[in-house]
Amino acid sequence: MGDIRQKAIPVNEPLLDGNEKAYLAECIDTGWISSEGPFVRQFEQLFSARVGRRWGIAVTNGTAALEVAIEALGIGQDDEVIMPSFTIISCIGQLIRCGVKPVLVDSDPLTWNMDVTQLESRITTRTKAIMIVHIFGLPADVDPILALARRYGLYVIEDAAEMHGQTYRSRPCGSFGEISTFSFYPNKLITTGEGGMVVTNSDTLAATCGSLRNLCFQQHQRFVHERLGWNLRMTNLQAAVGLAQLERIDEFIDRKRAMGRRYTEMLSGVAGLQLPLAKTDYAENIYWVFGLLLADDVDLDGREAMRRLAEKGVGCRPFFYPMHQQPVLARLGLFTGESYPVAERLYRKGFYIPSGLALTEEQMVRVAEAVREVLA
Ligand SMILES: *Cc1c(COP(=O)(O)O)cnc(C)c1O
Repeated sequence: MGDIRQKAIPVNEPLLDGNEKAYLAECIDTGWISSEGPFVRQFEQLFSARVGRRWGIAVTNGTAALEVAIEALGIGQDDEVIMPSFTIISCIGQLIRCGVKPVLVDSDPLTWNMDVTQLESRITTRTKAIMIVHIFGLPADVDPILALARRYGLYVIEDAAEMHGQTYRSRPCGSFGEISTFSFYPNKLITTGEGGMVVTNSDTLAATCGSLRNLCFQQHQRFVHERLGWNLRMTNLQAAVGLAQLERIDEFIDRKRAMGRRYTEMLSGVAGLQLPLAKTDYAENIYWVFGLLLADDVDLDGREAMRRLAEKGVGCRPFFYPMHQQPVLARLGLFTGESYPVAERLYRKGFYIPSGLALTEEQMVRVAEAVREVLA
């Protein structure tokens, strides 16, 4: 077969064929390239409005957005935050650095999101917040989480990095709890190259986040600091790309959904393969990535399947490695003896196939064929 001569299919390729070039040229022509440029504020306003929030604070990436959000809420030493084990390290870094105890819950085996039935038993007198992390295109079950948070007086932090434009029971993801965060990394639904945003309805939190991302400079005595911040400012160049991307968010969601339907069509019925849920009673999948989960009785693990797909020119990525198994956290004495079997299985048996917006029909057909061959 001509497989080796065909160009490999990258796991993600963004679409940048809207107004990106024109807005970037405007930055260069006007000389506005720093964070002081006008596109930053415009991007903050339009994006936060799109996700149903009053304030948007643009930062350098999605990890930084989480760090700023946690710091702004004043969560610190000896507090506890409940979060899923199945997530990216970005969610836990700032908690560890400021002496917070992360308390983990396992995932739902079908939606791969935090299993909300396990939440209440993890609440203690020290619990300060619940961190929602929406996974791969389907939101977590938000309402039971908000109800618990209300009952126990807890903050909710929502990591919506994979959920631009998605809704939960018709309400926008990014609008839940005190504060929500987004990433605009190139594999996300809309991108700024690198970038992130904190969104909130609270004037106070917005002001604090704005100050924290800007070294906590003070208005009247610029170089006198009452608090330690970071320099996490987004540039006008990034915001220019973000604005052009935002103009197409609905088109991108439609496209991702169509891709998800197409992959589902081609791969359903393949023995030993669990596909992403098309919908739940609260949301329809936007397929940020198209994840595959191998059944326990399939001889391959995710790594081996990815290796064989790579040989066929199909770029894949593993699922998240659970927080309770991270060597760096184990060395700190965290999560000793804890086990979250669904999260463990997701890592062991899961991986995702090319899901970028630039993927063509022909490439999808090739990917689906390769997956069938590897599983045959
Ligand atoms: C991508 C992602 C992040 C991190 O965003 P960066 O911009 O890469 O720092 C955080 N949380 C989730 C759920 C993500 O998918």
